[in-house]
Amino acid sequence: MKILIKTEFGYLILLLLTLGLVAWQHFGMNVSYSYELSRAVPITLSNDDINGGRSRGQLSFVDGKPTLNCEIVLSQSFAFCSMLLPLADDDGNGIDLRRFDSLTLTLGYEASERDTLLVYLNNGERINNNDIIRANVQVLVPSAGIQHYTLPLSQFHVPSWWVFSRTEAKISTASQLDNVQNIQISTGDHRSARDVQIQILDFHFDGKWIRAADLYFYLLMVWAIAAVLQIVVIARRFRFKYLYTQREAKRLNEINSFLKIERDKFETLAKQDSLTGCLNRNGLIDILERAISQYESGQSATALILLDIDHFKQLNDNFGHDEGDRVLVALATLLRQHIRDNDHLVRWGGEEFAIVCEQTSTAGALTLAENLRAVIEASHISEQAQVTASFGVAQLNSNHIEPWFKRADESLYLAKHQGRNRVALAP
Ligand code: GH3
Ligand code: MG
Ligand code: MG
Repeated sequence: MKILIKTEFGYLILLLLTLGLVAWQHFGMNVSYSYELSRAVPITLSNDDINGGRSRGQLSFVDGKPTLNCEIVLSQSFAFCSMLLPLADDDGNGIDLRRFDSLTLTLGYEASERDTLLVYLNNGERINNNDIIRANVQVLVPSAGIQHYTLPLSQFHVPSWWVFSRTEAKISTASQLDNVQNIQISTGDHRSARDVQIQILDFHFDGKWIRAADLYFYLLMVWAIAAVLQIVVIARRFRFKYLYTQREAKRLNEINSFLKIERDKFETLAKQDSLTGCLNRNGLIDILERAISQYESGQSATALILLDIDHFKQLNDNFGHDEGDRVLVALATLLRQHIRDNDHLVRWGGEEFAIVCEQTSTAGALTLAENLRAVIEASHISEQAQVTASFGVAQLNSNHIEPWFKRADESLYLAKHQGRNRVALAP
């Protein structure tokens, strides 16, 4: 639970950070590049005389701002005038515009004929060990007077004349702005003689510290890593839980098996007479239930032998209670030795025992009782006194326990009455 809260808190922080960064990127994170245009800047002029044209360009500074006055004269070659604003440092390193999104120009413009302006970003490149300048161009439709023009850098393209001017076998025709040497503002390609005045009041490149696409990529990576970590943590937690559960199950099993032993022990104790080790009345429940169900199904007969030590009170009185106890234990041992596994010896009362004989006929029970009687008489259970017992035998003849025991008890009483040390059978 604690870990879960911690994780949720972590994700909340990450979500807030993500939203914060996206909002910051959208509304802030601005980065700009510009410089003050003045006489000090080595602005250069270039016009069609490089191609043998006849246009006349003149560069001057009006109110401290570079101004191009151009008289375009039609000729065989492409007629134009242009101004170049340098962007490279003294070592020729241009600026990397990949972080920037747009170029904003503030231009003063007058022309005698309708025309366009061509804005070039000339990029320095090295191809086949040659330093070349790639033209990236965008057309601008100027209005008379002072205007701001914002040109998206993504819309600069390489003009086909530049591609044709190259002799390399394979050359990329994609625009490239990683080493821009200068901005070139040129008159357009309207084919008419005209006068054009272009004044550059200001220029600046605008961009973001981190581009939106890059930011989204980094954020995606962070979220992906967080998700993977989360999966690893969950997997580990499940593994720990599984191992813990396994350990717990093993421990519980051990306890259970121990407890089972303990339970069995207590169960046995609860069914056993502590003095003689015979079953007690409690231990007889299952046996009697079985006897009844066997009687009902007609499977087999069950006989009951009740025996009671003769004149046991006297023995106690004469030789002490301890001697009486010893006789009880010895008698139980003796009886156990002479009965079968199917016969269950129970201490029924003080000096009275019951033997429930499963799968035993009346004759069999009578024989067993007689045997036991003789064994007791013959054995010298007590060194002090002759011990005998009287027996009552009754066959189970109904599906009720009580009358069965009553009949056995009555026959035992009869045996006592007839002189003791004998066996009597219930009708
Ligand atoms: P009878 O032949 O008619 O059965 O005479 P009896 O003396 O055996 O019968 P009675 O019921 O008069 O006496 C039973 C005696 O058994 C009384 C009691 O003190 C004794 N007794 C019962 N339980 C124990 C026991 O756990 N240990 C000992 N030592 N004596 C017990
Ligand atoms: Mg008795
Ligand atoms: Mg007795």
